[in-house]
This record gives sequence, C-alpha cells and structure tokens, in this order.
Amino acid sequence: MILTNKLPSGTARRGMAHIQAHVALHGAKDLRITVRVGQQTLARVEGLLGVYGVCLYPSSKADGPKTYRITLNVPGPFPIDIRVHRPPVYFVGKATPSPGCTLGEVKRANRRGTVIQWAQQWAYARLGNVDEGLVWIFGHEWYHYMVKSKRLTGRNDEIQADAFAGDLLAQFRGG
Ligand SMILES: [Zn+2]
Repeated sequence: MILTNKLPSGTARRGMAHIQAHVALHGAKDLRITVRVGQQTLARVEGLLGVYGVCLYPSSKADGPKTYRITLNVPGPFPIDIRVHRPPVYFVGKATPSPGCTLGEVKRANRRGTVIQWAQQWAYARLGNVDEGLVWIFGHEWYHYMVKSKRLTGRNDEIQADAFAGDLLAQFRGG
C-alpha cells in the first residue's frame, strides 16, 4: 500500500508508477509506504537536501505497529549529487581509494593478534530529477524492508542498501 502526502497531481508520475509496479510484483501486504515530495519536507528535518528516508520495522511491543513502514522524502532540488556508501578499502601503510571513491574515516581492529585497518569510502551519485530521486530512495529503504523481512538474503547495511538503490535506478533509466 502506498500513501502519498501532499503530492501534487502529476508530480513524479513516472517514478511513482515504477515503485507501484515494483511493490505490486512482490505483494508486500505487510508494508506501508508514505511519500512526501517537494520543499515542504525540508521543514521537518533541517539541512537535508535531495532525498532521505526511513524504514521502520514491526514493533515487538504488543500494542505497537505490526507492519513495516517506509517513509520516502524527496525535497530536491534536482539535479543533485548525493553521497553514497561504498565498500571499505583495507590497507597496510597508506590507503588508496577505489576508482571513483573518496576515503572516509579510518578504522582499526585487532584480529587474532594482527591489527587490520580499513577506510570507509564514499562516492557520489547523480539524481537527475524528482522521478530518479524517488526511485533511488525507494530502492534504499525497500532493500532494508526486504532483508529484515527475510524476503532477500544479504547484509542489512547502508553499503548494500545504496548499491541496491543504484541498481534499481539503473533499471528505471533503462526503461
Ligand atoms: Zn539505510
């Protein structure tokens, strides 16, 4: 089920059609989706531009929500380059970023007496318009839903969710 809040008629029509079809294909009766498009979403979370979302899981409390709930906020403006999580690079000495990536925070751990270190990595992805923004953030939150509800096997982390979103966007662009 998809609920749209304050979505002017015709806004993100292609993106909405794409995610509606995707949800229909998988059933997803235990999922509630709320979509907010446009600048009014900025008032809620200061400083967040482009796209952002959340995937809430069913509550363990007896009187809590029993459904998964995804909220997709697409304030724009577009086009925009968003920062996406990429797999870390492990290194000895000096870290070299993977092609197209920027190095982030360096982490260290002791594994059976050996110190290993890795750097988090970022890349930028261009979201060309509101449809692409909506499809991308849907793909990210949908991945969390699919893995948490055990419909998909994978690590439920931001790196994987961003990769899934990128794949879904590529599929959308491919038509
Ligand atoms: Zn996420």
